[in-house]
Amino acid sequence: MSEPEKTFEPATCRHCDGEGCLYCNKAGTVLVTAPKTLCGHCEGVGCIYCGFTGWAGPKSRCD
Ligand SMILES: [Zn+2]
Ligand SMILES: [Zn+2]
Repeated sequence: MSEPEKTFEPATCRHCDGEGCLYCNKAGTVLVTAPKTLCGHCEGVGCIYCGFTGWAGPKSRCD
């Protein structure tokens, strides 16, 4: 039995609504833990917990 792997799926960056910004690395989308869920701290507005993407469990960026 192997441990369940964390899976990620793309979600439209809520900070820029897909336009591309600093927080989504100009991609307009971000990888978030599947199934994608709005950040419970800010309800999708963007805060430090969601890396300002609006989504819970964003994949850590390498910057
Ligand atoms: Zn963005
Ligand atoms: Zn948040």
